[in-house]
Amino acid sequence: TTWKVLAAPVSGEGADGVLVSFEDTTDLEQAGQMRRDFVANVSHELRTPLTALLGFIETLKGAARDDNAARDRFLGIMEREAGRMNRLVSDLLSLSRVEAEERVRPVERIDILALLGASVAALRPMAAEAGVTIEMTGEAADPEATILVQADPDQMTQVFNNLIENAVKYGGAGKQVTVDVSRQARDASLRAPAVRIDVIDRGEGIDAIHIPRLTERFYRVDSHRSREKGGTGLGLAIVKHIVNRHRGRFRIESEKGEGSKFSVLLPES
Ligand code: ADP
Repeated sequence: TTWKVLAAPVSGEGADGVLVSFEDTTDLEQAGQMRRDFVANVSHELRTPLTALLGFIETLKGAARDDNAARDRFLGIMEREAGRMNRLVSDLLSLSRVEAEERVRPVERIDILALLGASVAALRPMAAEAGVTIEMTGEAADPEATILVQADPDQMTQVFNNLIENAVKYGGAGKQVTVDVSRQARDASLRAPAVRIDVIDRGEGIDAIHIPRLTERFYRVDSHRSREKGGTGLGLAIVKHIVNRHRGRFRIESEKGEGSKFSVLLPES
């Protein structure tokens, strides 16, 4: 625990003394430390692609100037690095927006199945390119079904996209990703009828020690692998804040070597 101690001389009514006050500043200290860590992480994450870009610009101005093949290759790398910076800045903006709105409950009532169907349709080509098929099961497989929830459609789309993209990225080529939707009459932790959206992959799975930390900003099991796959390390932090804003629950279960299941539980409206 950190204490802030203040002492001030006081005088009055014939007696002089010292007023001592103690204030527990542990939370403030921790918040300050987290902020400093975050700024350091962001700076590092931005500097890595920026250093690469500056290096290739130098090379293009000098040695590689008249080498067409090298120039094309370097431009390709520069494009990738600039794309990485772009994604990072977009994710940082999303994160700060959802954090600012976390206490404001969304008012729109939307059909979560239609929204999920649109996400999956949009992601199928990217999945196919990675050799992954996406199957929809449960309520998600019923074209007639609708499930209404009070939600921000753009943010919910972001949740679905982040989870499905991760399942495709880390699920392994040639494997299947399952998106399952089920209704729960009354979930113990939500105390209301709830809809449960599970995104299941058959990838390498995640060691139990990492699971509680996956929603921390910039936490990655394997930084090299995440970067290689174009990850920013912010996806699950964004998911957690959006689900909180919707008064929902976010759970991760995984079995090493078997795969992972990311579940979003939302109260029905
Ligand atoms: P990233 O941009 O690195 O993918 P995320 O916040 O989305 O960042 O995920 C954090 C980390 O969690 C990833 O770097 C990866 O190590 C792990 N992870 C996320 N989804 C999966 C998954 N479906 N299977 C295995 N590991 C995963």
